Amino acid sequence: MTGTARHDVADLREALAGAVVLPGDPAYDEARSVFNGDVDRRPAVIARCTGPDDVAAALAFAQDTGLEIAVRGGGHGYWGAAVPENGLMIDLSPLDQVVVDAEARRARCGGGATLAQLDAATQEHGLATVGGTVSHTGVGGLTLGGGFGWLTSLLGLSIDNLESAQVVLADGRCVRASEDEHEDLFWAIRGGGGNFGVVTEFEFRLHPIGPMINLAMMFVEQPRMADAIRIARDAFATQPRTISCALACNNAPPAPFVPEEHHFTPGVAVIMVGLGSAEEHAAAVAPVRDALSPLFELVTPMPYVALQQMLDEAAPWGVRVYTKGLYLDELSDEAADVIAERLPGRASPMSQILVFPLGGAFADRSDDETAFGGSRALRYVVAIEATTPDPEAFGHDREWVRGTWDRLRPLAVGPGAYVNLNAEFEPGALRSTYGEAKWDRLARIKATYDPGNVLHVNANIKPA
Ligand SMILES: Cc1cc2nc3c(=O)[nH]c(=O)nc-3n(C[C@H](O)[C@H](O)[C@H](O)COP(=O)(O)OP(=O)(O)OC[C@H]3O[C@@H](n4cnc5c(N)ncnc54)[C@H](O)[C@@H]3O)c2cc1C
Repeated sequence: MTGTARHDVADLREALAGAVVLPGDPAYDEARSVFNGDVDRRPAVIARCTGPDDVAAALAFAQDTGLEIAVRGGGHGYWGAAVPENGLMIDLSPLDQVVVDAEARRARCGGGATLAQLDAATQEHGLATVGGTVSHTGVGGLTLGGGFGWLTSLLGLSIDNLESAQVVLADGRCVRASEDEHEDLFWAIRGGGGNFGVVTEFEFRLHPIGPMINLAMMFVEQPRMADAIRIARDAFATQPRTISCALACNNAPPAPFVPEEHHFTPGVAVIMVGLGSAEEHAAAVAPVRDALSPLFELVTPMPYVALQQMLDEAAPWGVRVYTKGLYLDELSDEAADVIAERLPGRASPMSQILVFPLGGAFADRSDDETAFGGSRALRYVVAIEATTPDPEAFGHDREWVRGTWDRLRPLAVGPGAYVNLNAEFEPGALRSTYGEAKWDRLARIKATYDPGNVLHVNANIKPA
């Protein structure tokens, strides 16, 4: 940072209600750290924003001083898009308040809130909206890219439940985007990521969920894994929307419900979450359990908020992560074989392959209703994840992710994938994710709201 810019920081401090954190400040290292421990960048300025005025001041300051801008929602992005080297970080973490109107079934949620904060506030009223599967993920990045989780089969994506948003544009104007106001912007932020402005508030529609749900987690060991995936695939295809399913190919955790001799055994966890009655869940699980003969299982009622935090320990804050995603139209026998064959090649027991079936309410929307990167006819989203605190194992597993992706790629729907599940994109993959028509429309909307591409430290869509 130049002497002049350093001098100007006094102006920024003056303009901001929130704190301005600089290199050398006691809060600096904590403020620049994000979920992915492999990200170690040093912003020149961190602007902790407490509202739209702070965001507008930070945007103006960065543009005046020529600093590159990045936006931090929950800091959970895979490649650390929240942290600009030598640039200005708009840190939304002070904007974490969630206000629930239980009668209207709406939640207003700050742009820097986590899913845990959103779930805690809404579940107080027995309500919820669609979030992800790890509770310390930010609502901001997750929602702007689409957002899927345990409620997707029943209620669609997070963006399908977005009523409106308050957005600070690159030029500092603060607007509301909804079906009635700035409709083009509202369409674009439902899938097009952080390209179009800084969202200081999301308004979500809420639905009665829980407080208790039912979980079945049936674990099958590696040698029987490919067959287990096929059995699960056939069973998942016939489930009602109230049964939400996933496959987690990893190692058995050292948890109390796992017999000690099976701790860290590699295999597949077949997960079926019951959002309806206990009877419905029991009836859905029984034939799958019979067919799988699991090595061990956990079948239990649990609070919805506990389900939302169930995978938190497998992805602790500060761990190194690298991910590549794919969409599959079919979980073919061949795909099951590739997954089973590739799993033993990991160095870290935390690295994993996750498969989430889509369909249900996800498929209720038409492709062009939102800017979601992917067709609503898609059947599966796959995440291949390297996860470890150990730098050496991380290097190994990053290559394992790439190799596994290469093996699955011929079976997938193009090189494109869910924008939120990629640590990097192959050339042209982002465009392929959206498809030509959506890509062109997004680029035109970008030209309207951010013609200078001020917000480009993201899965970037250049202005038309
Ligand atoms: C362990 C783990 C589990 C995950 N599980 C799921 C899952 O179950 N479902 C799912 O859909 N995704 C999942 N994801 C992906 C997740 O949605 C993305 O990582 C998302 O980007 C996280 O959002 P964030 O706000 O925490 O990230 P950040 O790193 O803060 O931001 C990521 C991007 O979003 C932009 N952004 C964030 N907030 C705002 C805002 N308020 N206004 C404008 N731009 C903003 C940033 O500029 C940046 O480009 C998971 C990720 C991880 C690491």
